[in-house]
Amino acid sequence: MSQQAATRLDKQMLIGGEWVDADERTDVIHPYDGDLVGSVPMASDGQVVDAIDAAEAAFQASDLSAYQRYEFLHETARLVEERADEIARILTSEQGKPISEARGEVDRGVQTLDLSAEQAKRMFGEYVPMDAQKGFARDHCFTQREPLGVVAAITPFNFPLNLMVHKVGPAIAAGNAVVGKPASNTPLTSIALFECLDDAADAVEFDVPDGLVNVVTGSGSTTGDVILDHDAVEAISFTGSTPVGKYLANNSGMKEITLELGGNDPTIVWDDTDLEEAAVQVVGGACSNAGQVCNSVERVIVPEHIEEEFVDALVDACEDLVVGDPFDDETTIASMVDDSQFEDVVEIFEATVDAGATVECGGNYGGELGPRTFEPTVLSGVTPDMPAAKAETFGPLVPVITVEDFDEALEEANNTNYGLEAGLFTQDIDRAKRAADTIDAGGVNINTVSGFRADHMPYGGFKDSGVGKEGIKYAVEHFSREKLVGFHQG
Ligand code: NAD
Repeated sequence: MSQQAATRLDKQMLIGGEWVDADERTDVIHPYDGDLVGSVPMASDGQVVDAIDAAEAAFQASDLSAYQRYEFLHETARLVEERADEIARILTSEQGKPISEARGEVDRGVQTLDLSAEQAKRMFGEYVPMDAQKGFARDHCFTQREPLGVVAAITPFNFPLNLMVHKVGPAIAAGNAVVGKPASNTPLTSIALFECLDDAADAVEFDVPDGLVNVVTGSGSTTGDVILDHDAVEAISFTGSTPVGKYLANNSGMKEITLELGGNDPTIVWDDTDLEEAAVQVVGGACSNAGQVCNSVERVIVPEHIEEEFVDALVDACEDLVVGDPFDDETTIASMVDDSQFEDVVEIFEATVDAGATVECGGNYGGELGPRTFEPTVLSGVTPDMPAAKAETFGPLVPVITVEDFDEALEEANNTNYGLEAGLFTQDIDRAKRAADTIDAGGVNINTVSGFRADHMPYGGFKDSGVGKEGIKYAVEHFSREKLVGFHQG
């Protein structure tokens, strides 16, 4: 394995307060060189049922106050912080992102835990002024927020720490019990998080019931089907691909569901902006984590008359990226998570070039670069019907599409079934407001790229990009229900 990777990790699942194995195990591979990183159990149907049952029992036994939930999450944050370097190395070992990005993700994970801890203290209801209706002047009414019960948290491979924290943190803050299911190719980072939760439960001075947090590993469809069938699961929070999200939505019955799905996010760069600055941000937004980011810049839309100048600026910005070993501090682009992600990007790239796009820089992949590595690649002359414009490309491609005017730019931005996030670079406030009102996406970010995100912002897509919002406060609302309490005095 490449330098500094974690030593081999053979981990277990946390079910009902015990770390348990399964009859079958699956290997975890370092994407950069294919070496074995470790292994995890393949949970059986029965073990997933056990985890849900344990969570249900813990939920019923739990009487943690808001302040205790704050302390539990705050303690977990401190334990993740203490293990930050080790967890970042596990993350790079199994996911392949550059170590500098892995450190950044762990830092965000700590902050997301702390934000969740704070939100536990803000489960507010509302006082309803009953005298607003004739005949109710002597009555009183307020609402209170209550937890739902068992929350299932299913996460993808690309941010295995922070995306799991985005579910577990708010779910616990709201007073629920959790069953986590990380992606099959990146389970070890999430298991490290559950180790910290388990240790925090032991460290705090009050009783956190066994089973309040559980994690199962292995096949997504096995776990998913048990979660869908089990009546005790009150909410499913899923981040991942659109087809799996739609399957869950179609089969979840009366369960609460939050879906954070794929994107084909546009970033419009208009002619009144600093093109060099925009190019640096666009390349960063398209290539971080080798492009394996849901809200990465997928399509760059520019007016025709600046295409040449902007493409030159993009090529310059790409030259500053360093392709290489993810454990090297200098590396900014490393390998993709597995062969299937890599081959998808190769196919989209080749088909787009065959369709007539021009490779302005990059375009090399595999070979000496590494088996699953793709160079940052700027493509010009891309038209809306080409694969790189139509598909969600989980790779470091920067496809540039030209338009004649701003109306066409907005039309092109909406020319997708997805609606996650969008970016616009302009100095014109009217143009910015028009874009904000017109683009059919969960977030429109001005003077930055589609990938702009702080962890407490409301975050979630429209159309095929999902249902519901994450961001701590919004996730706590999803993981709780509002009950009315009325006092009648006649
Ligand atoms: P994926 O859909 O293949 O897997 C996501 C998770 O779902 C994994 O844990 C997997 O094991 C599980 N799973 C698979 N089949 C299942 C089933 N039938 N029932 C229940 N769970 C099942 O996605 P991926 O390849 O890991 O991640 C990439 C995708 O995630 C991209 O489309 C990306 O855009 C999306 N994503 C979205 C966001 C967002 O916030 N909108 C964030 C990150 C990634």
